This record gives sequence, structure tokens and C-alpha cells, in this order.
Amino acid sequence: MSDWTEQLRNRLCNISSVSGYFTLTNEEKAFFSDDVLVSGLPVGITRYYASLASDSPDDPVRRQCVPSIREANVLDYEEQDPLSEKRYSPVPRLIHRYEDRVLVLTTDHCAVYCRHCFRRHFAGSRAGPVSDAELNRIAEYLEDHPLVEEIILSGGDPLTLPDDRIGTILTTLGRKRRRVFRIATRVPVVLPGRITAGLAALLSRFAPVWLVTQFNHPVELADRSREALRELSSHGIPVFNQTVLLQGINDDPEILKTLFHSLVRSGVKPYYLFQGDLAQGTSHFRVPLERTLKIMWETEKGLSGMAIPAFALDLPGGGGKIRLSRDSICEKTDEWYTLKDQEGNRFRYPREE
Ligand code: SF4
Repeated sequence: MSDWTEQLRNRLCNISSVSGYFTLTNEEKAFFSDDVLVSGLPVGITRYYASLASDSPDDPVRRQCVPSIREANVLDYEEQDPLSEKRYSPVPRLIHRYEDRVLVLTTDHCAVYCRHCFRRHFAGSRAGPVSDAELNRIAEYLEDHPLVEEIILSGGDPLTLPDDRIGTILTTLGRKRRRVFRIATRVPVVLPGRITAGLAALLSRFAPVWLVTQFNHPVELADRSREALRELSSHGIPVFNQTVLLQGINDDPEILKTLFHSLVRSGVKPYYLFQGDLAQGTSHFRVPLERTLKIMWETEKGLSGMAIPAFALDLPGGGGKIRLSRDSICEKTDEWYTLKDQEGNRFRYPREE
């Protein structure tokens, strides 16, 4: 059995395995008292990812993967599906929100279930891998939609699938016309042994393939991850990174600057820094918006253009992505902000403290 499948099989996924690794706090223990009822998102932590964490409850890796009863705190305006993806799903497993690209839910399975996940209505839902019938239906849909230039393979995490299944997905979806593939995956962060020479060679056969990952803290860019990134680069696969701003984890300009510099040194382009989405039970991770804007401003000072990601927020209710700038807030009440995008359109967004 390969190293990565062994890592998946031996994940920490219940109170006995997680407490064998970490000294749990009362809030963490309380989650397990009613696990699935507290949060639809299961627990799964690779031993590799756990090995990057210390035993401190404030450790940035631990906070991203060890659940807490705080996930039971659901605010009025938080949504199960905060980007309203179901509304933009013309056929099963496909999301078509923007004209030139589609997103395919390849599997619900992830190597690590990130506690801040916004797609918790699907990740870990036991939906399983996309079937041949679903893939063929998506391929037919693509034939009828010539304006689609880019196919995003997401989930769940597509790289938890075996190589032959990934090959089938790429072959089926690319069969009539060459399109750009983007693979959204946290595997380089949480299961870097999955990036084998064989996988990188397979992906390179379907070029152009771009990989977008999610490093949120410099400590995650460990030696194994750097090796994985080198493997991808040696096969000509460009890697971009989307960081989520997370309270108590990376909400500090110095941490973000270190992260972005390290990414560039590892050949990865910092692509987006996202405000946390309004997903149910994730308010303990979200940074209040005005603080986010200050952090962004401080972070970009002194960084080269190559190291600066775009600052963005996905509007609730499927309103789409807007770029954040210091001028984004045009009005505020005690409870709401009015945000303005580059075109001057206005949107309502909750004010959190
Ligand atoms: S890997 Fe992605 S889809 Fe899976 S839990 Fe993490 S953020 Fe969610």
C-alpha cells in the first residue's frame, strides 16, 4: 500500500484517535459528544498534517483540523450553502455560475476536513465519487456550452481519487474540445505524498492543467510540501494558492507576508486572499470586515506585486466574487455594511465584531 493511501486509511477521525494525538480542550471534547448533529462536516485529519501541529489549542494547524463545539453556533445570516451553488447547478455535480467556467464536484471526500470549509453541505456528505453517467451528462452539457473555457475540478478534493479515475474524468470532460483544467486541492498541504511522479505525469498529459491549492499559514509549507510542489513544477504544472483569512490563525500581516514570500520562493503564485464565507458554524474563524481591510492594507505594504494576492469576498446568496479594496465599504449601520464593487454595484453584508 502506498504512503498516501495508508495516510488516508489511518486518519484521525473520532474522539479516541484525535485525543490520542492532542490533549483536547472542553470545547473540542464537546464537539464529539454529538458529532454529526453539531456539524454536517465529518472529522478527518491525516497523521502527516497532525504532525505539523503542536499540542497548543491555539496552534494554527490544529485549529484548522480539530473540531470544536463552537461549530454549533449558527448565526441567522449564515447559510448551509453560502454561495448558493445548488441554484447554479444545471445538471448533477456541475456548478455553472460564471459564463466562461464550470466547476465539477468530483468527490465529496477530502484528506482533511477543514473546520472552516464553506462547502460543508457537500464535503464529507458520503455522496461518493462522480459516476460515469454523471460525467457523460456533464460532457454533453459542455458540448452545448461552447463559451466554457475552463473546467474546475473540485469537491471535496479531486486528488483523493485514484490516478485511473482522475484520468477518466480528464479524458471524458476533455473529449470534444481542449479546455483549461483547474484542479482545486488541499492535497499539497495536508497529504503531500499524494503528489507522486506518476500523478504529476498524468496531469501533464492533459495540459493546460493548473493546480490551485490552499496554504493558510507558513508552518504548512514544510519540506514534504515543497517536494510536492517541485514535482508539479518539474512536470510543467503551474500552482496558485488561495488563502482564507482565519481568525487566530493567520489574521496578522506579518504571518501573511511570511506566507506569501515563502509561496513565491516555492514557485507558487499567491492568487487570492479570501474573506471567510458566511457558512454555518464558522463565525469563530471569520475576521470582522473592517479588520480584514486593515490587515490587507498592512500586508500589501512592502510586498512585491508577484507576492500580493487579490483580496476578495464571495457575496452571500450567490452574488458572486468581488474584489476588496479600502473603498469597498460605502455605508454602514450597526448591523450591515453596504459594499461596492469595481463597477459601482452595491451589496449588503453583515457587520460582525
Ligand atoms: S479540502 Fe476543501 S472541500 Fe475539503 S474540507 Fe477542506 S476546504 Fe472543504
